[in-house]
Amino acid sequence: MMIKETFLDLVSYPTNSDPTAGVTPSTPEQKVLGAHIVDVMKGMGIEDAYMSETGYVYGTIPATAERKNTVGFVAHMDTYGGVCGENIRPQIIENYDGGEIALGTSGLKLSPEAFPDLAKHKGKTLITTDGTTLLGADDKAGVAAILCAAKEILDEKKPHGTVKLGFTPDEEIGQGADHFDVEGFGCDFAYTVDGGYLGELEYENFNAAAAVVEVAGLSIHTGGAKGKMVNSMSVAMEYCDMLPKAAVPEHTEMYEGFIHLDSIQGDVEYTKMEFIIRDHDAKLFDDKKKLMEDAAAYINAKYPSQPVKVTITESYRNMKEHILAHWEVVEIMEKAMRQNGVEPVSIPIRGGTDGARLSYMGLPCPNICTGSANHHGKLEYAVVEDMEKVKDIIKTAVDIVE
Ligand SMILES: [Zn+2]
Repeated sequence: MMIKETFLDLVSYPTNSDPTAGVTPSTPEQKVLGAHIVDVMKGMGIEDAYMSETGYVYGTIPATAERKNTVGFVAHMDTYGGVCGENIRPQIIENYDGGEIALGTSGLKLSPEAFPDLAKHKGKTLITTDGTTLLGADDKAGVAAILCAAKEILDEKKPHGTVKLGFTPDEEIGQGADHFDVEGFGCDFAYTVDGGYLGELEYENFNAAAAVVEVAGLSIHTGGAKGKMVNSMSVAMEYCDMLPKAAVPEHTEMYEGFIHLDSIQGDVEYTKMEFIIRDHDAKLFDDKKKLMEDAAAYINAKYPSQPVKVTITESYRNMKEHILAHWEVVEIMEKAMRQNGVEPVSIPIRGGTDGARLSYMGLPCPNICTGSANHHGKLEYAVVEDMEKVKDIIKTAVDIVE
């Protein structure tokens, strides 16, 4: 099974997910691809391959030797819904010369000036879009690498433990872990294959919460409002003034957390603000949540009507909390990458991943590279040799797992 052909086959299936659907999977097309992947898996001898009611695809490569651990590999089948993902017409650039690439007749260009990483791919085979759609390498490059690795593992019959494969719908709308059957998957640990450039190994992400701040006001005719009116918008501004000015997304990077005002709507009687709170560090994360409560308490102490109400809901946690107890999961992957001549690079994710949610659900699950770049847009591209390398890294990891 050649990775280029496998990848081109996968991206020919449109699988945009839809955040407004309210069902799983959010679009029926995802199940069409799911059924196809089940066929591909059965064709290579994965007898128990199946798709669940909610469009999750699972399968097992049976053990050929006694091992303590069962390892899993997970990728998502849906693509980002914000850019057209239908009728994808990939361009294949063999022996890339390192120069500018015109994307069809769209006028869009992939240039090494704008994307210096392109220089690393001179001489390789690139797959780009024709400038009218996204490519879907996020995450069909991951699906292709896992499928091709599985095929070779099955054919080569080297000694290895049980290996599980999982393909999820709706990752792009933040719901890829929602119906994942962690218990049925039965792995000690797993890896999502959903990153970008070769070498990416991610096991740290934000702790995340959402905060809704509601302010109740009191409307009185402006002519006679003195001493009586409570303008909820003014109180909301007072509240915002108490939050740290520099701890916002536009002034932070790497491990710096933030409190971000995402929306504000109000009139004199009622103002609603929606915030998100993010920090890699659990203590600093808790401090930020407390600061939002404290600011409300301070204002409420000033106004007899107690106008401010804060509701904080946790969204996900930093997977590092769960990975630290299973550090070998990171070490296995670092070793697998180095054995394939790839130096692992770990950068803290300023967001969440399905792996973070799965780690929280009891399945330690770092994220690794796919060999593709510029996800979620028409400038997306995949590098065939790098996808091939990711496939080899997966195989080596399977060899290493004890
Ligand atoms: Zn992805």
